Amino acid sequence: MENIFFDLDGTLLESRPRLYKLFQQMVPLSGLSFDEYWALKRNKTAHKEILRDLFNYQPMEITRFEADWLKQIEQPEWLILDEPFAGISDYLKALKQTHKVFIVTSRQSEKMAFEQISRFGWLEMIDKLLVTGQVQEKYDLIKNEVKVSSGDWLVGDTGKDIQTGKRLGMNTAAVLTGFLNREKLAEYEPDIIETEATRLNFNQLNKLRTT
Ligand SMILES: [Mg+2]
Repeated sequence: MENIFFDLDGTLLESRPRLYKLFQQMVPLSGLSFDEYWALKRNKTAHKEILRDLFNYQPMEITRFEADWLKQIEQPEWLILDEPFAGISDYLKALKQTHKVFIVTSRQSEKMAFEQISRFGWLEMIDKLLVTGQVQEKYDLIKNEVKVSSGDWLVGDTGKDIQTGKRLGMNTAAVLTGFLNREKLAEYEPDIIETEATRLNFNQLNKLRTT
């Protein structure tokens, strides 16, 4: 059975409202709309650039913002805003019949991630949840936990995800539901770019690759 690794935020979960609303709360000056904020982020504009260039933050204020962001972003009152993308639960359930399915995330808190996917009923639809805790890279976490091979896939919404899959010798799929736009994702040369994860049919993709 081939292994399929899914990133969590932006790939299986719509977590953009959580990030936007926390940003708005932390930066009361910001009049950015949801679409304006995400147009910046999806074009790879970092918080520090947004804060410096649009809101005139000084370096120390940016440092404080970043520490505070990490402290707050996985608090239960924010995580509750996350929603599975349409059709993901059925998709995972079907996929589990023919593949080994992993969720791999760089969340800080394994406990909170576990509780969240358990709330969505996903625990029985995956083989394992892998959480870096931001003490290691996804690359090392996967490498130490799972024996991967060239028919495996990593699905994610960031350049880092694509780089990780490639370094591990897997196929890579980028999705447009998350934190980067098509142009930015294309720079990392994933094997495929799809609008959403549920459109990925790995049996078909692997057949195409071997013929
Ligand atoms: Mg992600």
